[in-house]
Amino acid sequence: MEPVKSGTVLYCGKCGVEVTVTKDCGSADCSIACCGEPMKRKGGGCCCCGG
Ligand SMILES: [Zn+2]
Repeated sequence: MEPVKSGTVLYCGKCGVEVTVTKDCGSADCSIACCGEPMKRKGGGCCCCGG
């Protein structure tokens, strides 16, 4: 996963929880997990796959 930036909304595909990033992540290997799976980005990405 690419570094996440402030304002990015991430969601969990399993439980549906959503979190908003409040600070930029400088790591090139940023991964935020929920329910044992990496959270996905919501909005701002590809219109068809949400990436
Ligand atoms: Zn979850």
